[in-house]
Amino acid sequence: MDRGEGLTIRVPGDKSITQRALILGALADGESRIGAVPRGGDPLATARAVAALGVEVRGLDGAGTEPVTIRGPGLRRWTQPAGALDLCNSGTGTRLLSGALAAQPLAVVLRGDASLSQRPMERIAAPLRRMGASVDYLGRPGVLPMRIGGGVLTSIRHDGEVASAQVKSAVLLAGIGAGVPVEVREPHRSRDHSERMLEAMGAEVAEGWRGDAWSVRLADPPARLEPLDMDIPGDFSSAIFFIAWAALATGQRPVTIRSVGLNPTRTGLLPVLARMGVDVEVLPRGAPGGEPVGDLRVVGKGAGLQAVEVGGDEVPGLIDEVPIVAVLAARADGVTRIAGAAELRVKESDRLAALAVNLRRMGVAVEEFPDGLEIRGTGKPLSGRVECFHDHRIAMAFGVLGASPGCDLAIDDPGVADVSFPGFWELLARVERHSVGAAPHPGQIPAAPPGADRCIVVAVDGSAGSGKSTTAAAVARRLGFRHLDSGALYRAVTLALLQSERGCEDVEEVTPAELDALRIGLDWHDGTMHVRIRGTLVPDEALREPRVTSLVSRVSAVPLVRDHLLELQRSAAAGPGLVAEGRDMGTVIFPSAEVKVHLDAEIRERARRRLLQRGRRQPAAEEVDAEAARLELRDQRDSTRAIAPLTQAEGAATVDTTELDPPGQTEVIVQLVLPFLTSVEYN
Ligand code: C5P
Repeated sequence: MDRGEGLTIRVPGDKSITQRALILGALADGESRIGAVPRGGDPLATARAVAALGVEVRGLDGAGTEPVTIRGPGLRRWTQPAGALDLCNSGTGTRLLSGALAAQPLAVVLRGDASLSQRPMERIAAPLRRMGASVDYLGRPGVLPMRIGGGVLTSIRHDGEVASAQVKSAVLLAGIGAGVPVEVREPHRSRDHSERMLEAMGAEVAEGWRGDAWSVRLADPPARLEPLDMDIPGDFSSAIFFIAWAALATGQRPVTIRSVGLNPTRTGLLPVLARMGVDVEVLPRGAPGGEPVGDLRVVGKGAGLQAVEVGGDEVPGLIDEVPIVAVLAARADGVTRIAGAAELRVKESDRLAALAVNLRRMGVAVEEFPDGLEIRGTGKPLSGRVECFHDHRIAMAFGVLGASPGCDLAIDDPGVADVSFPGFWELLARVERHSVGAAPHPGQIPAAPPGADRCIVVAVDGSAGSGKSTTAAAVARRLGFRHLDSGALYRAVTLALLQSERGCEDVEEVTPAELDALRIGLDWHDGTMHVRIRGTLVPDEALREPRVTSLVSRVSAVPLVRDHLLELQRSAAAGPGLVAEGRDMGTVIFPSAEVKVHLDAEIRERARRRLLQRGRRQPAAEEVDAEAARLELRDQRDSTRAIAPLTQAEGAATVDTTELDPPGQTEVIVQLVLPFLTSVEYN
């Protein structure tokens, strides 16, 4: 497959997983870090409810990119809120919180908006009552508002009439909270996000078929839950619109959708796409919080789609995705048959009718059946007005078709997409713009373009006083990349040695075991690097102590020390990109960095900057001359030293910063990196 340059996009985080992480994080013992939290209505309502229960939740009000932290107090440590908890429109939040509240010795009122207040609550209230909680409806029976009085609970086995992930989760959370065993049986398997997350937090959940029921059992509830450290995976149901867009696009420019949740209870569309001839490559990226995550890479297919038959057992696993199958079918070769999907008639709209009406209006031959559709694909131009019937998935599916070659569609109510995917149209427009291809910038450094899924490395070095530290940090911030300050690592080794019994005496004789014992590590927070020594974070000031500064150059000249830090530095290249700063970045550590920059400036200017850095207001000419002389000596020493001399990496662009202020320097480097960015981020 063509592994050439492509687009990388992200879709919003999965709301089901987010709300579980917020509630379970609030029951954990210790601080959870949850990245990529979507700031939509439901997660926010759940987070506010958790905060009202006395749990410290930070990071929600920012720009939306920083992780949320939750200081979990332990299993039964929530406190009585001042008033009712308003869950707005979040059914997941309401039902999961109900389970968790059943085990807290509190009496808490839950309410919601008009739509949530129509939805049935008795299905969760009944098992919680059987466990010993009190659940009282304060208005109409069976719906919000309701009051949950919790406390000591007893063990139950709950046999659900319908499979429901929310009921199952509520019972599991009540069991966990109260420390009593519980079992839930359901007629078929519902989504298992809660089970996976509980296991990731140290609980043991046993699952399997018992007779003809699916059983989920918590036999031995743990005394505490470990905190979470995870990024919320992208929502598969949102990702599929861009898979379809790529499949319909002509040309072979691949599209990668980063970090999508691939829980097998959610990905039933993938085998259908394979049968249609859509080449989706799954690149696994681990399983944070127990949820499998991967990048989805798809190559434009254009006219090569095949018609498919969809029906039977596979329908429940892709029921929400039928609209997208239908629009792909309109462009496929042959007749696609979708059967067994009668449930679609009672979704946000009668989706089968909505699909048939709209497809016919634009000239596609469609037959409608009580439980499905037959769609004859066509290659002729399609145009017309699309009626959304207040249904977000209809709007987005036709939005994708409309954005494909040979289609000219007007969507009557695009705003309805906001229900599940705020920002959908902007992302679609940006993806379309990028597919045309960004012209390379004239200043581009010749280097092979990276694959879309690679971390772009920018190696920055330069002589003392050239402005490299400030500039490297600013470039990283501008691009949303990490900033590796390699000097700080050599400083950390120096400081750690000074703190150890061994000290820095005869550092040239240091042994690998002695270096291992220092346990130098890196932590990343929003692209900023923090150094650990023996597991403890080290403040920046400690690394800049005079005794460290005077020894670091000697320590950094020891080959064993340099080898020791090699892998740690390379491990920094993760995420969209890295600005790696230091003398051997473009030569030894990242020889194939996409962009290499060598900063320089006229020597008197560098001298002046160093004096300013040290707090001089307006250095006199003689002072500058004296400093310039010292710098010249240092340059000479630096460039002639045997180990890691300061040399310009092959292919590095020299940037003379003499006439450039810090923002100007940043801009020059950013411009060099831009041609390598094909990434379109959702935010
Ligand atoms: O940049 P900073 O002053 O913090 O670096 C401390 C010292 O570490 C430098 O003076 C240099 O001797 C050494 N160093 C190195 N290789 C690097 C970064 C720093 O030898 N990549």
